[in-house]
Amino acid sequence: MRRIFCRVLTLALMFVMAACGKIEASEETTTGSTEKGTILDAAENIQETELANAEDCEGSVVNTEEERTMKAEFNFETKTVMLNSGYEMPINGLGTYSLHGEECVNSVKAALSEGVRLIDTASAYGNEKEVGQAIREAIDEGIIQRDEVFVITKIYPGSEMENPKQSVQGCLDRLDIGYVDMMLLHHPDVNDVKAYKVIEQFVKDGKIRSIGLSNWYVEELEEFLPQVNITPALVQNEIHPYYQENDVIPYIQDLGIVVQGWYPLGGRGHTGELLGDPVISEIAGAHDVSSAQVILRWNLQKGVVVIPGSSNPDHIKENTELYHFSLTEEEMERINALDRNEKHDWY
Ligand code: NAP
Repeated sequence: MRRIFCRVLTLALMFVMAACGKIEASEETTTGSTEKGTILDAAENIQETELANAEDCEGSVVNTEEERTMKAEFNFETKTVMLNSGYEMPINGLGTYSLHGEECVNSVKAALSEGVRLIDTASAYGNEKEVGQAIREAIDEGIIQRDEVFVITKIYPGSEMENPKQSVQGCLDRLDIGYVDMMLLHHPDVNDVKAYKVIEQFVKDGKIRSIGLSNWYVEELEEFLPQVNITPALVQNEIHPYYQENDVIPYIQDLGIVVQGWYPLGGRGHTGELLGDPVISEIAGAHDVSSAQVILRWNLQKGVVVIPGSSNPDHIKENTELYHFSLTEEEMERINALDRNEKHDWY
């Protein structure tokens, strides 16, 4: 009951803040100044309010041990999952690994226009500026509001994790969208615990909302988790029909941590074989959808969030159309049987 009350309170305050943001925005527009500052300020205000509420309701909203470790269920109507951090994250998004320059800005804006509300970037991709620019332009053009899009970025091993405060601030500066929804450690590293603790401080300061890990498997998690204070909300690992991680996924999910798959379509250079797989093609034909849609839907039904990468607006749109069909148990089993333990990258 307290949980529901707190959520209602948060929603009411968000509504009031959003209304204030709109009034301010229209007032500023009449005086000729830009809306960007107002929108980002409003987003920050909403976030501060949410954080204050979360603190007020601590122990009842998101932070009981039971809730933290409860397996997160996907909501196929809202197309979101509730993270153990108390924030809702979309379950399908856009990966930006190989997107740069204008192509990156255009692809992210195309995705946002098609209703994609989850964008995955990383310091190592060298495209945070373009991702941030696309989001700010989409806000200015009325396509989205800041709090409607969930942005993930990552800091890299080596010098970035050695100097985590500067690295995390660097991500925030390059993205320039007020706050970051989720910061991941890109890989395990000698300084990973130190870097994670610095991100925990950014969470306390309200600049980062949730924390996660990437390329962490069972052994690494067992060693890492006892050393940190905030349980990660997400683990992002390589997952596709030829590399399924069937032992790792339930282990992570049972900790109340959401799993997200990278290279959902096998990754560049491998998509041809995977999309042309006879089993997947046959299932696609039966549902009158594409092989890509079957693979993405298979992930979602396993409780794995998908972030396919694409610079093709038709593919970007197609990759959002995952909710008008479902795979039978038998079809899920047939795809499960394709596992070859075949990793498509070294990490
Ligand atoms: P991917 O999503 O498996 O595959 C991307 C390829 O699939 C592109 O060549 C794309 O070509 C094609 N494609 C996309 N949608 C398609 C569709 N509907 N039909 C046919 N082809 C389609 O590989 P990825 O982009 O490298 O990985 C996904 C994301 O995961 C990355 O962008 C990145 O955000 C993340 N990632 C994370 C890590 C990590 O270590 N944490 C590592 C790798 C990747 P078009 O451009 O022509 O559509």
